[in-house]
Amino acid sequence: MGTSDDPQSTATRLVTTGRRGAWPVVSPPVWRGSTHLYENTAALAEGPRHNADGRFFYGRRGATTQWALADALTELEPGAFGTMLYPSGVAAIAATLLTVLKPGDVLVMSDSAYDPSRALGRGMLKEWGIETRFFPPTDLAACEAAICERTRALFLEAPGSLTLEMQDVPALVALARARGLVSIIDNTWAGPLGFQPLKHGVDITVMSLTKHVGGHSDVLMGSAAAGEEWYGRLRRRAQDLGQVVSPDDAALMLRGLRTLKVRLDQQTASALEIARWLEARPEVARVLYPCLPGAPGHELWARDFTGGCGLFLVILKGGDAAARARFVDALTLFGIGYSFGGFESLAIPIDPPRFRAVTPWPPADMDPADSFALRLAIGLEDAGDLVADLDRGFAAMRAG
Ligand SMILES: *Cc1c(COP(=O)(O)O)cnc(C)c1O
Repeated sequence: MGTSDDPQSTATRLVTTGRRGAWPVVSPPVWRGSTHLYENTAALAEGPRHNADGRFFYGRRGATTQWALADALTELEPGAFGTMLYPSGVAAIAATLLTVLKPGDVLVMSDSAYDPSRALGRGMLKEWGIETRFFPPTDLAACEAAICERTRALFLEAPGSLTLEMQDVPALVALARARGLVSIIDNTWAGPLGFQPLKHGVDITVMSLTKHVGGHSDVLMGSAAAGEEWYGRLRRRAQDLGQVVSPDDAALMLRGLRTLKVRLDQQTASALEIARWLEARPEVARVLYPCLPGAPGHELWARDFTGGCGLFLVILKGGDAAARARFVDALTLFGIGYSFGGFESLAIPIDPPRFRAVTPWPPADMDPADSFALRLAIGLEDAGDLVADLDRGFAAMRAG
């Protein structure tokens, strides 16, 4: 990929980033430690005065392995001053909201947001006197109408969890900025290779590293990256909350990061091939995948994004829950499980109305009978083998 303000291509930086000259090994060592031993009492007294990465004070502020990962993520995020790491994506979202909001505030959230983000708004934040208002993800006017004088922040997610709506991020951010709001985006689907939120004016970009960066379905982590001011606040709040990740997990994330681009490129190419095949099937009403020409949101994706991933939604033509279950149960290469971004393909049935406050399902321009959906996460298997597996699924669906 690479842009004009980027002297090195992303592919190269994924290899070189987060490797400190002081280490005579290719991958940063796992550096475990909670207690830092000081040389003398003067050095001890000096310790707490410094609160910056790169100076080991006490394990809760992280150490070299975690800093190597945070440095690497910052380098991949144009406009970021720093990146905070959290034990999961949900922890990153919660800590970010707890940094930005205070009692009495209103949070305006896209109706496309990940369910646990919504649950935070409806649950914990509400208990603390913070109101969350949802707006249809693609409706700029509705977003503006949801903003009031108490609104403090705008929370975006594009493409949306489950239903993959694209959002006009620059336009929404301009709206937020004009009203003095802080803008936050959950950029898990695209990650920094596929979309650079801070470059488009977003204040804080949050990610579940569990998905694409980890890439092997064996480690959980989240991140929040921002410019200098917000990074400083995120950092202080993370320290207040005692949020820290283990050096072992950070090393696993760094390992995943090295192959992020080749995995995403391959998964996107396979997903496009499979999405095209699905589109042509008589059992399919629509494929919601912004990378796919002609799919909802494709123009915005092509305008603002620099990459994709293997996650999309298939809406079946008619049918019922039992037929859909036969389809999923007949698959042999697709695992039945949550998440995406791993090397393995996954399939799950999805019923969006349970996770939507103000957005109709199925989309307004579709036949209401076409409401049963499947979420597919395309992994690194051969695309032809995955197509054959899906064909088996359709056969099982018809056999009912
Ligand atoms: C998975 C996911 C999260 C949460 O990440 P965890 O690491 O599982 O806590 C947040 N946002 C989106 C869009 C996700 O897909």
